Amino acid sequence: MGASYTIGLDIGGTKILGALLGPDGAVVAQVRRPTVRGAEGVVAGAAQAVRDLVDLGGTTLARVAGVGLGIPGIVDHAAGTVRHAVNLGVDGSELPLADLLSAEIDGVPVVVENDLNVAAVGAAHLLERDTPVHHRAAGAAPQSEDLAFVALGTGLAAGLVLEGDLRRGVSGAAGEIGHVPIDPAGPECACGQRGCLEMFASGTALATAWPAVHGKPSPVELFEAAAAGDPGAVAVKARFAGAVASAVRLLVLTVDVRHVVLGGGVSQLGEPLLEAVQDALHEQAEGSPFLTSLALHERVRIAPQGVPVAAVGAAVLGREGASRRGAVATDGDGGGDGGRRASARVPGGPDDGGHDWPHDETRS
Ligand SMILES: [Zn+2]
Repeated sequence: MGASYTIGLDIGGTKILGALLGPDGAVVAQVRRPTVRGAEGVVAGAAQAVRDLVDLGGTTLARVAGVGLGIPGIVDHAAGTVRHAVNLGVDGSELPLADLLSAEIDGVPVVVENDLNVAAVGAAHLLERDTPVHHRAAGAAPQSEDLAFVALGTGLAAGLVLEGDLRRGVSGAAGEIGHVPIDPAGPECACGQRGCLEMFASGTALATAWPAVHGKPSPVELFEAAAAGDPGAVAVKARFAGAVASAVRLLVLTVDVRHVVLGGGVSQLGEPLLEAVQDALHEQAEGSPFLTSLALHERVRIAPQGVPVAAVGAAVLGREGASRRGAVATDGDGGGDGGRRASARVPGGPDDGGHDWPHDETRS
């Protein structure tokens, strides 16, 4: 068919990040546009981002095999719809985003996925490409090692890529570890439980424990104060790192993933965050030959910086969506893509659009 490119868009509350992937899976072009709220604005903005990417990449829409969208809100992957994308001004009723965008871009197939899931797929794709052990054929599924992508944003949640596939769960709640209660006497969570993990390990939890007063993001101010020896900051930092380490431990003990990638706004701390979490993992493993044998500190890493991870993942899913549709029918109505279940996440839980750092490039 000659259609060998794919496009991914990460649609957030303030901006749309886009990536064009070439036939070999490499990022060929990137765009960034402000988000226009409301259904019409989102569709028009996404269509423009697609056209911009095609132009930048020196190719044509006819050579784009598929487009993937990562979007916050309740996504029905099979139907290609989204609702309750509150940050985008899309409330209540279901928005048939896949069909609306496809109609604007000459019928190129579009798939829609939760923003956290696309980030997980993107992290797996980039990790795989970082390890040039073998050469994949164009379009072949990446032989990723099992991976969890942990978003440290407004909330805490993980996206899971197991045996190369996204694991959504029967109700789309796979990876919702932020709502695992760890302290029965802890503060009340928006989900109605008490002492949920995300009350301790999230960007919101950190900003509450160490409010910014110098105009920098609160994670930066906390880590700077801790490095300067402020005992209060040292304690808050240790408690936060310990809670993130608990999330890592929970994921490894549940699905035994090779990689736990820390993403979301807080991950922009980079190496200092990684070191703090690794220290906490060492501490938790002390006295436990069992935990020590799992080498948790070797599995954790920071999400790639300066790359639109979620947009890249959306593009990878766009290719899969195109091949699934191609095998079933050609009318592109979204009805034939493999019976995937709707993804229903806790509204207001893992979506972190409200707390993005100004230059947040990863997502969630
Ligand atoms: Zn909760």
